[in-house]
This record gives sequence, C-alpha cells and structure tokens, in this order.
Amino acid sequence: MVGFYFPDGNDEFEYDVRGLMTSFFPGCEPVKLAGRPDAELALDFERILRIPAFPEITDKGERKNETKRAFYRELSEMTGGKQLPWGTLTGIRPTKLITQYLEAGHPEFDTAESKGFRSLMKEKYLISDEKLDLAVRIAREEQKILSGIGPDGFSLYCGIPFCPSRCLYCSFTSYPILKFADRVDGYIGAMTGEMDAVSGIFAGKRPDTVYIGGGTPTAITADQLDRVISAVEERFDLSGIREFTVEAGRPDSITKEKLDVLKKHRVDRISVNPQTMNDETLVRIGRLHTVGDIVRAFHLVRDAGFENINMDLILGLPGEGPAEVENTMRQIETLRPDSLTIHALAVKRASRLKMEAVGTVIPGPGQIDSEAMMRIASEGAESMGLVPYYLYRQKNMAGNLENVGYAKPGKAGLYNILIMEEKQSIAALGAGTVSKAVHPDGRIERADDVKDLKEYVDRIDEMIERKKELWH
Ligand code: SF4
Repeated sequence: MVGFYFPDGNDEFEYDVRGLMTSFFPGCEPVKLAGRPDAELALDFERILRIPAFPEITDKGERKNETKRAFYRELSEMTGGKQLPWGTLTGIRPTKLITQYLEAGHPEFDTAESKGFRSLMKEKYLISDEKLDLAVRIAREEQKILSGIGPDGFSLYCGIPFCPSRCLYCSFTSYPILKFADRVDGYIGAMTGEMDAVSGIFAGKRPDTVYIGGGTPTAITADQLDRVISAVEERFDLSGIREFTVEAGRPDSITKEKLDVLKKHRVDRISVNPQTMNDETLVRIGRLHTVGDIVRAFHLVRDAGFENINMDLILGLPGEGPAEVENTMRQIETLRPDSLTIHALAVKRASRLKMEAVGTVIPGPGQIDSEAMMRIASEGAESMGLVPYYLYRQKNMAGNLENVGYAKPGKAGLYNILIMEEKQSIAALGAGTVSKAVHPDGRIERADDVKDLKEYVDRIDEMIERKKELWH
C-alpha cells in the first residue's frame, strides 16, 4: 500500500498527486492519510509520501506545476530513478499545449524561440524528448486536417450499446446482444426521439462528421442498422459531410448484408478492431472469434468497396509482451489497413479486468515492457506508410503511455481529432454517451445520457431536456 499526506493540510492538488502516484505505482490505490502516521500504522504502508507545499507561489497554475515536479522527483527517487515518458503531464490531451502555442502564432518549432519553448516544456513538465517530438508532430498534423473545420459546424455521434460478448477490459456501456436482442427496437425508437430533438436544436446546420459507435453497431441486424442510419439521413442534411464512420468493431458481427446497408448509405470509414492477432489472447479477453475471423472480416469489408478501414490494437493485454505485439504487427502488415489506432491498455474501474483480476497480468513496471511494445507497434505502423495524427491519454494506462492514431495521408479519422481538440460541438445520442457543447465564447459544457438501457428508454424525455438545456 502507498500512503500520502499533506503536512500543512493543504490538499488543493490531491487529484493531480493521485494521478502521478498511480503512474509510478500502476494498479495501486493511494491512501490519503490525515498526517504522518505513527510507527505502528506506518508498517502497513510500503511507502509514505509527504506532499510539499509552495504557499509563496501566488499563481495557482505555477503552484500546481511546482508541486507536481517536486512530488515527481520524490517518486522517481523512491522508485530507483524511474522516469515517466510524459513527465508530470497527467491530462488526457498533451497536444493541446502545443496547439495553443501554434495558434498563438508560432507556426514553426525550429526557430530560436521555439527551442525556448521546447526547453520550457521539458523544464516545466519533465516530458521526454521522444514524447515531445511526437506531440509536436501530431499537433501539426491535426492542424492540417482540421483546416476548414469551424466552430459553427457540429458532429453527430450515435451509440449502439450492444456487443456479441463483453470484453475483459471493457468499461463502456455494452450489453450482450443475444440476451438483449428484444430491447433493440425500443432502443432505436428512443434514440430516434433524441434525434428529432437534436435536429431541431441544430436546424439549418450541417454536420461535418457522423460517427456510429458503441458497443458494436454491427451487432444489431442489417434491418435495424438500416433504420438507424435512415433516421439520421432523414433528420440531418448530410450534403456537407466530411466523414461518416461506422464501427464494425467486432469481426464476429460483420456480414455482407450489413456491409451492403453501410455502402448504400455512403458510410465511408469503417473500423474493424482486432485488438490483437493472437488467438490465445482473444480467448483470454473474452472475444468469441479467432484471428482467422478477423482476416476474413477485413477482406469482406475491403471487397465490399470500403477504402478507409481502421483497425484498433491494444498493447498490454493480459499475457502479451513484445513477441506477441511483433506477431500482431506482422499480420496487420499483410492486411494493410488505412489507419491503425494503437492503444495502451487502460485498466478501468468498471471493467471485469479490474473487478475480477481473473488471473491476469495488470501491467506494471517490470511485469511487461510497455515501452518496447509501443516502439514495435509505432515502428510497424510507420513502416506501413501510416503517420501519427491524433493522441490522447487515459488514467491507469500501461507504462503510462498513450493512445495514438496513425493513418495514410487523407485517411485520418476527423471525428477522433474533433472530440479530442474540442473545436466544435458534438451531439451524442444513446445510452452512456456524453454530448459536448463548445460555445462561441470558448466555454465547454457537457450533458450525459444515462448508461442503463432501460433507464435510457424510460427517461428519454429527460435526456432530450438535458440536450435542450445544453444548447440553449
Ligand atoms: S467490443 Fe468494445 S464495447 Fe464491446 S465489449 Fe468489447 S470493448 Fe466493450
């Protein structure tokens, strides 16, 4: 157990402190102590950290950075010199700092001034050169891709919370389709009601992107999928749309009939997500399909005429190390997807992985070499001609790393960037989704839909009200 306390009782940065502690000690739940514990209690803890305070620093942001740096150094010493690749940056969007710098009129990073900025970033956040380079590269790429996208537009997200089975690491809203098949029609009916309201709120505006995600949208029948997309088309003017994604996600849910529906509706980006190309791991994480199924599904999608196929991978899955990642990348290379999203496993509270810890390896220092896996995956992606274009981080990620999207030129997922960079409003419909209003004055507000399927359908009027309040 790891404990911490604030000697002067000033705990204003507790959240940040906790974030750093779990990055240095993955899987631990830091315990906040009222003060320095007596010797007996102290025996219960492997480590006890005293959080320094800097009352003389009046600027809150600076005070926070100083606290985090001091604390980081202490943790690093305690762990034998361990460094975190992203230093003290615990937020989910490290590229945002770079983007702000670019938008402030510093278009290039190779000027003397930008060198100053680089040193500043390193001194302020203790970020490694490698990650700083990655963040700069991605921030530039994002800027290119986002050109022409303004705050006046919006994007639409529809969540279909059904899947063939529940994956071990899943923390999303997801119901096994076999058990809940009789609820799908009612769900679509409720979501269509939400669509009616949202199309009224955004009357006169055209969405830039539409994303049907989940869950696994292709877990429902071809007819139901047809109804969802037709409902979108009937209510929104899609003439200016730049991207229409459907997450086919699980290969065991993809059929020719469903692909025909997607093609008919001019869906132009599809995600087929293997997560790994190792059969043993697929069994371990609760998937009901094999690597052979992934390959067949991929070819089915390609043969149906889709020219923008994304694949998602997760590094740090139970039982996997660099050798398994190498195998995955070798097989992915033969498929040549148009984009690849590489995630570092994040152990979420609501996942079975966290709750059951079913004889699995929760990634941590010395248990798996997360950085080596990330290197193999990123080099593999670049060797396929894919370039990094978006990045985000989550809590409790394997090796304290990051999720990175790679894509062929012109095949980047625009919606992915929009949701990260918060450049425009996103109207999200369906159980467990979160809508985001980006107001003209820069304020960002959110409204969520309840996660429970029955509650969502029963309380759909309330979900609609939440959206009306958000945008009015
Ligand atoms: S496919 Fe995705 S949403 Fe469905 S159970 Fe697996 S992780 Fe969860």
